[in-house]
Amino acid sequence: QYTKAVKRYLLEPSEIVLPERRKNSHKYTYGHLLVIGGSVGKTGAPIMASKSATAAGSGLVTAVVPEELDPIFENSLVEEMTIPVDSEDGLFGKKAPKQIKNIIKNGKFTSISIGMGMSVNEYTTGIITEVLKAKIPVVIDADGLNNLSVIDNYKNILKKRKYPTVLTPHIGEMARLTGLNTGEIINNMEDVAKEFSEETGVFTVLKGSRTVIATPEGKIYYSIRGNEGMATAGTGDVLSGILGTLIYRIGVEEGIKTGVYLHGLAGDLAAQQTDTESLKATDLIYSIPKAYQLLKNFE
Ligand code: AMP
Ligand code: MG
Repeated sequence: QYTKAVKRYLLEPSEIVLPERRKNSHKYTYGHLLVIGGSVGKTGAPIMASKSATAAGSGLVTAVVPEELDPIFENSLVEEMTIPVDSEDGLFGKKAPKQIKNIIKNGKFTSISIGMGMSVNEYTTGIITEVLKAKIPVVIDADGLNNLSVIDNYKNILKKRKYPTVLTPHIGEMARLTGLNTGEIINNMEDVAKEFSEETGVFTVLKGSRTVIATPEGKIYYSIRGNEGMATAGTGDVLSGILGTLIYRIGVEEGIKTGVYLHGLAGDLAAQQTDTESLKATDLIYSIPKAYQLLKNFE
């Protein structure tokens, strides 16, 4: 079934597009990312995504969270804001989908990253459905993808959407989305990502020890940055925050390419600072500035 003859492009630091800051600017110049996620026991995921978004250069970041958990988020998120919405037993509740619809409609957000630690229930599925109606670019990760895969006609919904959509599945999430087994995906990363993007019209960031990016037109990019120390909880949440920021700052395709490279480079720098065994996701966030500096000085 798979050809293994897909043409693919290596992400090179010399070709990486970087966001730029200018003197005559203010925070709104640099975008306002809406992060949606969190549930009882999984508050760290959207916290890391939000902090990563700030470190990647978002002007403002707001996290939409289950209201019972809001104090936890407010305590950790200093630079970022929160909007608490209806919750039940620490999960997004019945009124959350409609509230989030209004938040998106009335706010001036420039992109959305959804799914980190969000859990899956009937209301979170409703939230995903609302978010896919947003007229701004959307990154869907983690439980956002698991919510998507339980919606019957999710491929049609993605195909009909007129604004850029980025899906960032790891192998297991891709298996749930496609019904393929994990071995098939691992052995055919490029083909699987390409076929999925062409079929649904989304950008696919298929994550693993190698990460493959597929565009809706079927173009494939891959990165050799990153290391086995990144096989630890939360590193994917960091990527979703970075991508949410950069798809607004430099456009969707360049934003994904730069974001994936920056994330891998931050992981490599963090591994040098600690050790691949000890590496943790928050180390990655702290390495984003150094990764930017290296890329800016690269000729
Ligand atoms: P997630 O599984 O969603 O937490 O995402 C994990 C992140 O770490 C992805 O960006 C992966 O590409 C990266 N990662 C995980 N394991 C490795 C590995 N062995 N080598 C390089 N990158 C990895
Ligand atoms: Mg993940």
